[in-house]
Order: sequence, then structure tokens, then C-alpha cells
Amino acid sequence: MSSNTANKSVSLLDLKAQYKQIQTEVEQAVIDVLRSGYYVLGPNVHAFEKEAAEFLNTKHAIGCANGSDALYIALLALDIKPEDEVIVPPFTYVATAEAVTQAGAKPVFADINLDTFNIDPKEIEKKITTKTKAIIVVHLYGQACQMDEIMALARKHNLKVIEDTAQAFGTTYQNQSAGTIADIGTYSFYPTKNLSCAGDGGMMTTNSDELNERLRKIRAHGSSVRYYHDELGVNSRLDEIQAAILRIKLKHIASWNARRGELAEIYNKAFSELDHKDFGIITPTKIPESNHIYHQYSIKIKSKTSKSDRETRDLVKDALKHRSIATEIYYPLALHAQNIYKPLGYKDIDLPNSIKATESVLCLPIYPELDESDIEAVIDGFNQY
Ligand SMILES: *Cc1c(COP(=O)(O)O)cnc(C)c1O
Repeated sequence: MSSNTANKSVSLLDLKAQYKQIQTEVEQAVIDVLRSGYYVLGPNVHAFEKEAAEFLNTKHAIGCANGSDALYIALLALDIKPEDEVIVPPFTYVATAEAVTQAGAKPVFADINLDTFNIDPKEIEKKITTKTKAIIVVHLYGQACQMDEIMALARKHNLKVIEDTAQAFGTTYQNQSAGTIADIGTYSFYPTKNLSCAGDGGMMTTNSDELNERLRKIRAHGSSVRYYHDELGVNSRLDEIQAAILRIKLKHIASWNARRGELAEIYNKAFSELDHKDFGIITPTKIPESNHIYHQYSIKIKSKTSKSDRETRDLVKDALKHRSIATEIYYPLALHAQNIYKPLGYKDIDLPNSIKATESVLCLPIYPELDESDIEAVIDGFNQY
């Protein structure tokens, strides 16, 4: 497994490889939209909303412009107001907390579980105050949070829950789709996500008829009857070209997700046999209640030398890069330590697991179009370090 993979380059993602498989169908669908003269919130959006809701087994799906808007619209629909506190994890993409700030409320950071990288229900409970109104959980990397514990807390303290499902389209938690368990699920179809379009796109899901109406209204300038505006809203539309592409990809998402799982198994097996003198590798931990669609395959690098984990991880990353193996650090800086959130006054010792994750995590190439020899080339890169 060494010589024949030595010069193979592996990219972090290859969007063209996926495109080639569905090229004829996608191009025809796009031409059809262009010729139809119907470009935003038209028949393809309605059909995609219906098909996505069926796939996820939820009552309503509402398309919007992107995953960040989906979070913001969800907060408005749940009546989150200035002075309210919303509990979020600090180890996620910035959009999760940013939406809270945009809604005028205060993000309160609760630490993650270092094994799953997801928000820790015990840490959530510690952060609940009389001002807490909601929790946003993030199904990071494609594995669901511990929703039973989180929903029990929400019921006990009368809190709303939003599931940021931007990285987990098709993930299940005890036979329910991630994003459909709490009040509102939010999704992103940005090109790097496991279900993606050819630009920006997003969606919200809910089982509540009332929230469905609110979300649709807020998406369209607070209006349900054109030119009559009941409340403050935004302009956040999904366009027809993106919806037409998503409808085609939706037919493949289950098998694409399954393929990610197969590739992850190959990584898991190889890493269980890898014994390097300078570092150890901790492969992703799975909880029994959730599957894992491996939107990212994230390992933790543990130093075995006097160098720190961060230094060792960065050296390994550089060495892999030198061999044309792309990797990425999602995320190098926790949100409480970002310049925008420093004024909230968190210290690193308040959120130790998030800090440890930023220091040790390394995300490896994983997308359905990779084959076994690509995975071997990545593993070879570790062996040769
Ligand atoms: C990508 C992402 C978002 C934002 O989605 P956009 O479509 O880029 O606005 C929000 N939360 C998480 C966890 C994400 O990964």
C-alpha cells in the first residue's frame, strides 16, 4: 500500500467529480428553468420543499437563501428578542452564534463533548438562566447531538430548540431525521455541504403548522399576502435553478451518505493499525443513537513527543500537504475566542473541550467519489511522516 500511492494527490473535495455523474440531467433541468421564465420561489422550489419534507419525514420544509438566513429566520419565528439568551456551542461555524447576535440576543457558549465534538447536555444545563429562551444545537460533522437529553432539558426549562443541520442532511437519530426532532431544523446547501447546490441555498423544517406559516412569512418580508406586511421579515428566497439541482441530488443523497460511511470504515480500520512514534490518532466516536454521515471525517492528533498537540497536528498537516494530500482544520479558533465575541468575556478555561478540539482536530478528505486507493494514499501520508 505504499509505492503505488506515493505520488497520488488527494483533494479535500472534488465538486466536478460529482457533477459529472449527473451532468446531463442537471444541465437539462437548468435549461428548462431558464426557458420557463420562472426564476424564484416557483414550481421547482415547491416540489423540492415537498420532496425534502418527505425524505426527512417531517411536515414542512421551507426553502431560503442560505443556512445562515435559515438560523436567523428560525430565531425570529421563535420570537427571540433582545436581552434573551440563546445557548450555542463554541466549536462550530460562526454562523450559528452570529444569527443569535443578529437577532439582538446574546449567545451563551456551552462546551462540547470532546469525543463527539457536539454540545454537551450537561454543559447546557449549567448555562441555563432566567433569561435563556432557546438552544441551538449543531449536528457537527454529520453526527446527531444527544437529542433525548437536550429535548428533556428544553421541556423542563420551557426552552425552544433549533437544530443547525447544515452538516447533517440525512443523518438519523433513533429513526428520526436530524433537524426534525426539535422546533425548527435549519440546513445549508452551500457547495461544500453533503447536499449542495451550485451557489447558495438553505432550508428550514418544522412539524408545526404555526411555525411553518411564520417561517414562510418572515422569509418574504413578513408578508403572506403580497404588499401587506404583518411583521419584520427578510428577503431570503431559494431560486428555481438551485431547487431544480437539489431535486436531482436529493435522489442520490442516501447512497452518497452511505458511501461516506464506507470510506470512514476504511479510515477507521487503517488508523486502528497505525502506530507512529510521534503521534497517536483518535478516530471519530459514534454514539449508538445516531448514525454518522461523515460530512467530515475528523480525527484528533495526540502528540507523543515534547511538542504540543497543536504543533504536532500542524506539522502532520504540512507534511501531508507536501505530499499533495489536502486536509483542513474545522475549526482552528473557537467562537468565544474570536475577535467578535471576545467582549463577552469567556476564558479558554471556561470551555476546555472546545479549546482542545481546536488544537487537535484534523479533517481528512471524504466525499463519495473517492476510491479506496485515495484513502490508502492519505493513510500512507501518515505512515510516511
Ligand atoms: C455552513 C454552515 C452554516 C451556514 O450556512 P451558509 O449556507 O453558508 O450560510 C451554518 N452552520 C453550520 C454548522 C455550517 O456548517
